[in-house]
Amino acid sequence: MNERISVIGGGLAGCAAALAAAKHGAAVTLFEQRPATTPETHQTTLLSELAGTADLGVEDLDRATGLLKAELRALCPEMMVCIEEARIGERTVAVGRRAFAQEVTARVTAAGVELRREEVLSLPEGPVVIATGPATWSPLARALHAVSGAYFHFSFIGRPPLVDAGSLDLSDSFRAPAYPGAEPALYLPVTEAEAAELASRLAMAERRDPPEFGEAILLADEHSTAERMAADPAVGIGSLLGGPRGMRGDGRPSLCLTADDVGESAWHVEGLLTALQHDQQVRALQAVQACANVRLVRPAMIQRAPFLAGPEATLSSLQLRRAPRVLISGTLTGVYGYAEAMALGAVAGVGAARMAAGGEPTAPPSESLTGALCRALAETQPHADRRMLRANFGMIPEQRADQGLSKAERRQRQTARALAAIETYTTEQ
Ligand SMILES: Cc1cc2nc3c(=O)[nH]c(=O)nc-3n(C[C@H](O)[C@H](O)[C@H](O)COP(=O)(O)OP(=O)(O)OC[C@H]3O[C@@H](n4cnc5c(N)ncnc54)[C@H](O)[C@@H]3O)c2cc1C
Repeated sequence: MNERISVIGGGLAGCAAALAAAKHGAAVTLFEQRPATTPETHQTTLLSELAGTADLGVEDLDRATGLLKAELRALCPEMMVCIEEARIGERTVAVGRRAFAQEVTARVTAAGVELRREEVLSLPEGPVVIATGPATWSPLARALHAVSGAYFHFSFIGRPPLVDAGSLDLSDSFRAPAYPGAEPALYLPVTEAEAAELASRLAMAERRDPPEFGEAILLADEHSTAERMAADPAVGIGSLLGGPRGMRGDGRPSLCLTADDVGESAWHVEGLLTALQHDQQVRALQAVQACANVRLVRPAMIQRAPFLAGPEATLSSLQLRRAPRVLISGTLTGVYGYAEAMALGAVAGVGAARMAAGGEPTAPPSESLTGALCRALAETQPHADRRMLRANFGMIPEQRADQGLSKAERRQRQTARALAAIETYTTEQ
């Protein structure tokens, strides 16, 4: 009889893993620590709660998040159905946060997955997928270190503050897409004096750094919050106001605000990643006249995200090199992004299902973006200053036949090959 699979973590990656494994005939137990233990990133007990914005990126196949979602449709169709059921965005794939999580929770149960609401502290027997995300913490992290011999790297992931639209003065605001194809963002122009005051309030505020992880199993540290940038004259807060985001509006230095899933009643202040105390966040924003009466719906936060990556730690099938019955997925592999987490979750779920049936997991083909991402994670040695990886077309190996083609033509061919390859891979599993 097939072995039962354990999936640890009911986030995006864990749910995709559980659904993909169940679809491939495996008996699955999904462990989720909430509600007994709720990480700071989460508010509900629903599975697949989105920790940041409710925007899952564009659909266009010539963009990495678009292609990744198209590949996810082959790897884990149920997850894409959940996205479609909860979709509210017209231009981008924005979803209703609660509706999406409810949809996933219902489908996981309907797929026959056994859901156990408990925190896992050691590695269960048999094939196991670890998808514990940025909240991976001792002692599970220590158990992973013990079986794999691998050391954790870590990065910092944050979410910007969400502010109440009614508390803003929109008299001088204007609208423009924050990036090509995005829903229109709201821009609040900022004068030179306001920018200087904002930088000073950020730099002078009392810091609230994230808690320690356990230095013995950590290799790297990297931290770039708005307050650190503001305190460093060589960096400053230009990227928050006049850099890539702000300048996309009408050229005036501006705060860029994007709508949350509750519509235009609440806005994310893009790029304002900060670990400051909540009252200090309000005080800093109040430096801008339009935010003089600002109210936070949800404060910004920074989360320390540990990950295992590189040739010594993992294989491109997402198995741990020295403990191949253990597969990792989601943020724990060193990727950032909702689409990335779901795609890697599905790969790990399919691999675990193969193992449970007596086979060996295989890496997705490198012509696909998912496969290229798995290879990049397993084959590239993370540097001490490495940030988490996002999928991008540059990861897909170039083909001789594409040389001399325009970028658009190359993308078209890469996309067609990627979708064909992932289709074949899924059918063969
Ligand atoms: C604050 C923040 C904001 C983000 N914003 C965005 C964004 O806007 N866009 C984007 O594309 N990406 C964003 N990300 C990055 C990333 O895409 C998400 O974190 C994504 O949800 C990762 O999926 P995951 O499944 O790896 O982890 P998660 O979705 O966090 O799921 C992990 C789950 O495992 C559970 N768990 C942890 N430990 C245990 C244990 N020992 N036993 C049982 N259960 C356990 C947790 O409770 C949680 O439910 C953000 C991340 C953070 C932290």
